[in-house]
Amino acid sequence: MNRKYRKTVIAGNWKMNKTPSETKEFMAELKSIMPKGRWCDVALCVPAVCIPTAVRTMRETRVGIGGENCNANPSGAYTGEIAANMLTDAGCKYVIIGHSERRAMGETDADVNAKIKAAMAAELIPIVCVGESLEQREANVTNDWITLQIKMALNGIPEEKIRKIIVAYEPIWAIGTGRTATPEQAEEVCEHIRTVIRKLFGAKIARAVSILYGGSMNEKNAFELLAQPDIDGGLIGGASLVPEKFVKIIEAANQPTI
Ligand code: PEP
Repeated sequence: MNRKYRKTVIAGNWKMNKTPSETKEFMAELKSIMPKGRWCDVALCVPAVCIPTAVRTMRETRVGIGGENCNANPSGAYTGEIAANMLTDAGCKYVIIGHSERRAMGETDADVNAKIKAAMAAELIPIVCVGESLEQREANVTNDWITLQIKMALNGIPEEKIRKIIVAYEPIWAIGTGRTATPEQAEEVCEHIRTVIRKLFGAKIARAVSILYGGSMNEKNAFELLAQPDIDGGLIGGASLVPEKFVKIIEAANQPTI
């Protein structure tokens, strides 16, 4: 982390877990144990049907609510989809874009790019996910793959908007597997992502972009991962479903930075 130049962000991704009633219970518990310090921004990206409950219950708190996906189009005949401005109107601040689980369902880099543009037009903060498969890591093409994903994702986005985007490095082999990247592995790729952004948009912008790590981050490994200079927070799946664990990760963000 480097709080001097960029925000630290701890974001949860509930995926397809929790009902609206369970959301109400979770948020009440979270509120009661939420740390008082403001050493990081906190986001919870929840299933669409849980958004109204999450927004209502967390209104007076520092926790921003987000969607887990959005459609690139502003409206129209897209049954079952949700437009970015619908998320904004429902009270969301964030939206996850390009999660590997959605890419596995057919989402392309071009889709990711269009969705980022739609999200920003609706004044949402996109949390843009990139990451390599185990095969790609073993074939030593991780950095090339990540470069391509970042270039495609950020293509055509005006410079002044780049600093508002949050990037999440999520190695696919570490998501939901309990197999976390080592702090060194995670730092190496997060640093690479910053280098790619620097080459595309300059040092000032690259320094300002928050880059998160995601992939089996939990209350035990968060401190060490967050201690890395280019890891500005976490995108957390499993551990964000348990208030105590999520809070411990938030607390791990309270450490000295360079
Ligand atoms: C995720 O869903 O983005 C994620 C990182 O999940 P987990 O923390 O469960 O690996």
